Amino acid sequence: MDIHEYQAKEILAGFGVPVPRGGLAYSPEQAAYRARELGGDAWVVKAQIHSGGRGEAGGVKVCKSEKEVAEFAAGLFGKQLVTRQTGNGGKGVYRIWVEEASDIAQELYLGFVLDRKTERIMVVASSSGGMEIEEIAEEDPESLVRMVVDPAHGLAEYQARELAFRLGLKGDQINQMVKAVRACYRAYRDLDATMVEINPLVITGSGDLVALDAKMSFDTNALYRRPQVEALRDPSQEDSREAMAHDNGLSYVGLDGDIGCIINGAGLAMATMDMIKLSGGEPANFLDIGGGASPERVMTAFRTVLSDPNVSVILVNIFAGINRCDWVARGVVEAYKAEGLTLPVVVRLAGTNVDEGRRIIDESGLPLITAETLAEAAEKAVAARPKRAA
Ligand code: ADP
Ligand code: MG
Repeated sequence: MDIHEYQAKEILAGFGVPVPRGGLAYSPEQAAYRARELGGDAWVVKAQIHSGGRGEAGGVKVCKSEKEVAEFAAGLFGKQLVTRQTGNGGKGVYRIWVEEASDIAQELYLGFVLDRKTERIMVVASSSGGMEIEEIAEEDPESLVRMVVDPAHGLAEYQARELAFRLGLKGDQINQMVKAVRACYRAYRDLDATMVEINPLVITGSGDLVALDAKMSFDTNALYRRPQVEALRDPSQEDSREAMAHDNGLSYVGLDGDIGCIINGAGLAMATMDMIKLSGGEPANFLDIGGGASPERVMTAFRTVLSDPNVSVILVNIFAGINRCDWVARGVVEAYKAEGLTLPVVVRLAGTNVDEGRRIIDESGLPLITAETLAEAAEKAVAARPKRAA
């Protein structure tokens, strides 16, 4: 789960990372008011969306008057901001962060990720901040410093000090860096983060270290024990289909094809998507309804899949172990009627109570297409697609 820059800054500041003073705004007037509250004569106005690359996309601007702050904010609110990370749809701007402008002498990069090879948290830093880490790796690989943290000891002070030396920091900046790096590590570990990134971490004209940007992602499987993190979730930044599925406890990933899939079990879902492709089709989504799928759950799965306007066929593929085919069949029939479906629905049922399930489908009087095997189901779903005008 991702959070906004201003939220990450607040968290990191709580652990001891220096950040600029700022305030959140939900309207252009409020943005101007934030600037007045902060005082000074230059502010940075920043669109809060779950994406980096906002600067080059026109989502970040240094403003010199309250009027300029309000005007720039007015142009951003409600806009779908497209960055190189968002995809063509962009992400909606509904919150704007106004902060004091810093005087930048140098931009550094500081990131924390999980290194799967060593199964440890790895610190990545560079003296070439401001650009994305991929660009740094390509254009200035020599500047990259990597360090793996031993979980039993945590990020030791000597390690943080060595990192600061290797970045070429001097004097008190070294102490500030040690403090900031260890603070980020603690935030990462204590809150079950999967990523912390400060880009840029700058050295100001007066020689101090300040985090001008901050990004944090969290392990969704650990959210149950981090209610304070889960509270930061912003559904406006998520794929609405995925958010709806999440709210209903379904595992759903939106894709670009037109064959909507309702399947139980992640493995069967993957296999079904492969079969669809093999038969010449494209899946519109991955959806695992999980075990013990009640008719209500099947209905919800239908609604989620149907919220994607690209879907032209639905394929239901259930191998019932814990599940029961009769429940799933009842859900399919109810969903078909309740949603007033006109698009083709292919149903393949196997496993527990399969005979009862098939009977419910057959006796429903609905034009449901049935299949015995996975391969047959995929082929029938591909064949059932409406022919498109060329
Ligand atoms: P993104 O990474 O999404 O483009 P950033 O927060 O990194 O957004 O902002 C882009 C650039 O704007 C930064 O690299 C920095 O040069 C500048 N910037 C951001 N915040 C400030 C600030 N408070 N003072 C001065 N410059 C800033
Ligand atoms: Mg940045």
